[in-house]
Amino acid sequence: MASIFEEAISRLDNAARYARVDPETLAGLRHPHAILEVAVPVRMDDGSRRIFTGYRVRHDTTRGPTKGGIRYHPDVSLDEVKALAFWMTCKCAVVDIPYGGAKGGIIVNPKELSNLELERLSRSFIQQIADFIGPDRDIPAPDVYTNARIMGWMMDEYSKIRRAHTPAVITGKPIALGGSLGRDDATGRGAYVCVKELERRRSWQPTDITVAVQGFGNAGQHIAHMLHADGYRIVAASDSRGGIHRRAGFDVPSLIKIKNESRNLQSVYCDGALCNSVDADTISNEELLELDVDILIPAALENQITAANAGRIKASVIIEVANGPTTSDADEILDAAGKLVIPDILANAGGVTVSYFEWVQNRTGDYWSADTVADRLHKIMAREFNAVYDRMLDQKISLRTAAYALALDRIGAAVESLGTHKFFAEGKP
Ligand code: NAD
Repeated sequence: MASIFEEAISRLDNAARYARVDPETLAGLRHPHAILEVAVPVRMDDGSRRIFTGYRVRHDTTRGPTKGGIRYHPDVSLDEVKALAFWMTCKCAVVDIPYGGAKGGIIVNPKELSNLELERLSRSFIQQIADFIGPDRDIPAPDVYTNARIMGWMMDEYSKIRRAHTPAVITGKPIALGGSLGRDDATGRGAYVCVKELERRRSWQPTDITVAVQGFGNAGQHIAHMLHADGYRIVAASDSRGGIHRRAGFDVPSLIKIKNESRNLQSVYCDGALCNSVDADTISNEELLELDVDILIPAALENQITAANAGRIKASVIIEVANGPTTSDADEILDAAGKLVIPDILANAGGVTVSYFEWVQNRTGDYWSADTVADRLHKIMAREFNAVYDRMLDQKISLRTAAYALALDRIGAAVESLGTHKFFAEGKP
């Protein structure tokens, strides 16, 4: 099986046929700009010292400083971090914000650590990578199993090392420490704007549309909540322990409350406060993907829709809120079956867009209202969704290829404005 990074960059070749991009630019994108692997020592509560492995990868620096989250997960690998950094480069170009892509991660199961150990781990990681990041160099953010409090610890540690209050070094911070209003629901809201634009273009009635959400964390909960408020029927949701399904649809605010109080979706079904009033079946994550729904939202981890199950997907629209949930061979099966896939580099770009707003606010000292954040996010997401959708129609390509082609146009324009082979060899632009 190809590595995740190889798999991720394999999509470039196809998209390049529909973009204005020089072969030298394409070749450059195959090589991350810089890779750092660090040992992260942590004094544990029992007095012992453990060493964790951490990574930070900066993929492309042409369009600006690099940007991307930090993941805490036992399955983190350098290969995965490289792929996630590459996707960030493309994502920032799709929404046209002045960043390249980066990503970081630590191989750890954070659920096994105490709060004190988690704080020491987060501060120790920043001590190891402090020279690799910075407000003008590389700006981390949260990702899977990291959150605002962890970003706060990291900003505090970096500021101590630099002996200067430096909020712009990291985004997704608590509001009280310079975070932006509207960052917590930004990824879900960006994906929601894509659905609303599709609804407008396809003249749907929300109440006719059924939705299944795999992964009921930050991003999955927010998009489910917004769609439910507009009348969409959320008929299934799942987390790492499994899922629930109810044909008539769920009351999403109650589902979110119970999930966040119990940390377990199935308790809604079996032993939560709503146990007797919620009529739902338990299903596996695999079953959720294959449900007969109109919209499927993978919002958990990579490689969920593969060649093995793509042929059984019934949803006609798939919104990739997670990064990399569909493998490239699955893509071909979905395309042939006429499914519309709103690709991750567009669908989940709301998060990095509001992270960019947070960085701008930290640097100017001018803090925006929640309405201003939501309005500006809406404008960017609607503009770029329609640009990608129109390109799909004009060039008769998939939405994913159109999104990559748009990203390549923009990355290519930046790289090539410094000169191409043709320019240096023949003096031609
Ligand atoms: P999160 O940690 O808040 O939530 C992840 C959810 O997925 C949890 O409910 C967890 O139980 C569930 N999960 C884990 N393994 C699963 C599995 N095998 N099957 C089903 N569910 C599973 O994370 P998040 O921030 O919501 O991120 C989710 C996805 O969205 C990731 O791919 C992330 O990279 C992507 N994303 C998030 C943001 C953001 O701003 N939060 C931005 C861009 C992309």
